[in-house]
This record gives sequence, C-alpha cells and structure tokens, in this order.
Amino acid sequence: MALVREKDGKRLHVKSALMGESLVSKEFIENLDIAPQERLYPDVKIMKIGGQSICDRGVKALPNILKELVKNRAHHKMLLTTGGGTRSRHIYTIGLEMGMPTGVIAKFGSMVSEQNALMIATLLSPWGGVKISHADIVKLPTYFAEKIIPVMHGMPPYDYFAIKPKVGRIPIHRTDVGLVILADLIGSRTILFIKDEKGLYSEDPKKNPDAKFIAEIGAKDLLESNQDDLVIERPCLEIIQNSEVIEKVQIINGMIEGNITKALNGEHVGTFIYKQ
Ligand code: ADP
Ligand code: MG
Repeated sequence: MALVREKDGKRLHVKSALMGESLVSKEFIENLDIAPQERLYPDVKIMKIGGQSICDRGVKALPNILKELVKNRAHHKMLLTTGGGTRSRHIYTIGLEMGMPTGVIAKFGSMVSEQNALMIATLLSPWGGVKISHADIVKLPTYFAEKIIPVMHGMPPYDYFAIKPKVGRIPIHRTDVGLVILADLIGSRTILFIKDEKGLYSEDPKKNPDAKFIAEIGAKDLLESNQDDLVIERPCLEIIQNSEVIEKVQIINGMIEGNITKALNGEHVGTFIYKQ
C-alpha cells in the first residue's frame, strides 16, 4: 500500500483499491481483484448433531452416536455443533403468539441450542468434550493438540440482530445455516449433518413414504427445483453456492451405526449437496 501526501504536504493517506468507494457499486465489486480465500482448518471435520432429529431422542439415540464419535477421536479432528429441536419450536410458538420480534425469537433459538451443546460436551467430557463459544474458534489448534472434542452451539450469533424474513418472524438462519457459515469460515472439507433420515428426498419422507431418495444434487439445481420442504434450512443452499471453499455438504442418518465413521472417512453415505 502506497502512502500518498496531500497536496499541501501536511497529511499522509494510505492508498488502497477501496479508497473513495462506497462498496455498494455492483460493477466495482464484480471487478475487484481479490486473493483466493485461505482455508484456515481444512482438515477439521465439522458436524451438526441434529436437535429435533437426534438430541430430542435422548437415550434412544445419543449414547450410540457419542460412542461412535469417541471411537473416531484418535483419527479425526472433530468440531461438533448442536441444533435446538423441539424446545426451540415450543418457545418460538409462544414467542410468536406473544408478538416477539425476530431478534428475540433468534435469541431463544441460541439459548436452546446452547443447552444441547452443554449436554453433549458434558456427556463427552471423559473423552475430552469441552463446550466452547463462537469466539473460541480461533483456538481450535490448541484444542486438537490436547485431543479435545470441542462442542459449540449451532445458532449463528445474529441473535437480536437476526433479520426479519419476508413472511413471518421465524429467523431463517438457524443451526443448519450456522454449520455452513462455520464451514465457509474455517474452510473445512468435511461438513456433516447428522440427522434421522437417510438424506435428502423429493419430499419429507415422514409425510410421504413414497418420496424419492436423492443421493447427490447441486445446490443450484436444488434451489431452482423450489422443493416445498428440505432436509436442511433453505438459505444453506445459497451460502454453499456462493462459497469459495465449500465443495459439498453431506447429510447422513446418524441412527444407523457406522454411518458417521464412513462419512468421516470420505465414503458416500447419505446425500451429497455440492457446489455447482
Ligand atoms: P434437525 O433437528 O437436525 O435440525 P430437522 O428435524 O429440523 O432436523 O430436519 C430434518 C427433518 O427434515 C427430517 O427428519 C425430515 O423429516 C424432514 N424433511 C423435510 N423435508 C425433507 C426432504 N425433502 N428430505 C428429507 N427430509 C426432509
Ligand atoms: Mg432443523
């Protein structure tokens, strides 16, 4: 960056590509030459343990999933995030009927997903489970050096600043979106959604047992297909499509033993949604 002296010779400025720009101009942004995004922690495998799909099943689902994660601890650097599930939906319902704004509803969601993070970190504590906060992301190398399994709540920290959607007041950036944003931030190559269905179907398989399974699909095609219901939150697709570092995300059924291990080892179980 070159220093430039004002004509009267008194003050120095730093000349930069963004100097004097509003940063609003579409043409300017499109033509701006930037370095490719660095992958901060490409070998860290990030995964969300579903709230409604997994955590809410309690003892019927969690112990087996945690056992499988612990078995993989020696071979993979894993960062876990948590969804909120049915308790989020309960407080959303009450909040909405009491006229709460989107930002308060989002804050409720963070608080519930934090409960699940605390529970999973506590259950994993004999094997290095530690609950971390969003600000601790930069400490990941230290955690892995100490064989820790960090567990973070999955809601992105927009909280009171969550933007009201076009329709209604349920924040659209919830814990699935949190995982995809995190993946973009750290440049993770393995991004897993651990849920209770095989992966993505043409419709919700719980509502239509004849729904067709989709083993892999591009994020752009899936967005354009405008499916009424999806296995991950809809804004994930646009974030994947816009990312410079996300190649694909994977949705697996964590209730089937071995699936998490296979996915961690790069096998195609469940659904791949890739950047097109
Ligand atoms: P989580 O608790 O992990 O956030 P959700 O319950 O919110 O999981 O979302 C996963 C659920 O989404 C599945 O269990 C399934 O019933 C439902 N679902 C809706 N549409 C689809 C679809 N097109 N394909 C697969 N599952 C779907
Ligand atoms: Mg969900």
